[in-house]
Amino acid sequence: MNLPPCPKCGKETDKLFDNVCKDCFFENIVLAELPLVLHAKTCQKCGARFDRGKWVNVGTVDDNVIQTVEDALSIHNLAENIEIYVEPRKLTPYMYRARVEVDAFVKDEPVHQELNTEVRIVREACDMCSRISGGYFEGTLQIRATNRVPTSDEKMKCIDIANEVVRRMQKKGDRLAFITDSIDIKEGADLFLGSNNSGRHICRAIIEEMGGSFSESPTLFGQKDGKDIYRITFSMRLPEFMSGDIIHLKDKVIQIKNSGKRTVGIDMSNGSRFMATADEMKGANRIASIDDAVMVVLVAVEDDAIMVLDPITYETVTIRKPVSFAAQSGSEIPVIKTDYGLFALSGENT
Ligand SMILES: [Zn+2]
Ligand SMILES: [Zn+2]
Repeated sequence: MNLPPCPKCGKETDKLFDNVCKDCFFENIVLAELPLVLHAKTCQKCGARFDRGKWVNVGTVDDNVIQTVEDALSIHNLAENIEIYVEPRKLTPYMYRARVEVDAFVKDEPVHQELNTEVRIVREACDMCSRISGGYFEGTLQIRATNRVPTSDEKMKCIDIANEVVRRMQKKGDRLAFITDSIDIKEGADLFLGSNNSGRHICRAIIEEMGGSFSESPTLFGQKDGKDIYRITFSMRLPEFMSGDIIHLKDKVIQIKNSGKRTVGIDMSNGSRFMATADEMKGANRIASIDDAVMVVLVAVEDDAIMVLDPITYETVTIRKPVSFAAQSGSEIPVIKTDYGLFALSGENT
């Protein structure tokens, strides 16, 4: 190589970096810089980190320290393929030391640098935790049922679904999806929610699993930063009919098996399967429950009919033979007495 010597130091060189030798060039390169003291704002309750004006979930205090150091590092703009390694060391709950190693390439030459810094932990309550502890809520979710009171099982199921929905939303970064409080009342249950948005998601998830419908009604609550703040009341209505209810709908008597997005049941007059949308269920009336079944004496069994003793009048009544009916005459079988006649319960009815 016939390169002239380095113009700065006069040393012989076979490669020039910006017209000087390698040593002279790298003398002036500082790969990474870091302030001697950093501050990491963290929520003392949930561990969230305050990052560029907002609270975010990061995990442990160690993670927060690493993130704070990485954000504060300034790296030379000629550096490529940068690798950063941060090792936090806890001195006290409020003070960490961090050792940092930076590896990179500058003009295809590997460069390594070690740095140290002190990270002071500033503990505060985050937006979510301060709202929860202050009993703040934005939306109310009222769990009710149409023309009846929800059972305690149903209320528990709704609350389980609500908890699952806010857990999922929080995981996705929606920190205001939380339930401040839930109270049990005679007509159902009321949930107080950190955000209106979560109310909508919870109602949809309940409908997906249990059926029913919901409506929203906003009320002006106040103003924040010049914007109107609304509190929304979500009225969740569980379906009117539950498994085991016997209803009358358009001249049919139906035993409800399941109330979800669609109502599923058995047509008690012919044993066929029944399925209806919420719209198709309009006009249905609950006329009995399978809990009202009484045992009656089976007098005779024919091809399509059976004869039983009416539980009240003791007259012999002929009714349709249920699907998969195996009882022998002389035995007792369960029947439901309704205004639309007597119906025998078959094996699959019960
Ligand atoms: Zn030189
Ligand atoms: Zn918090």
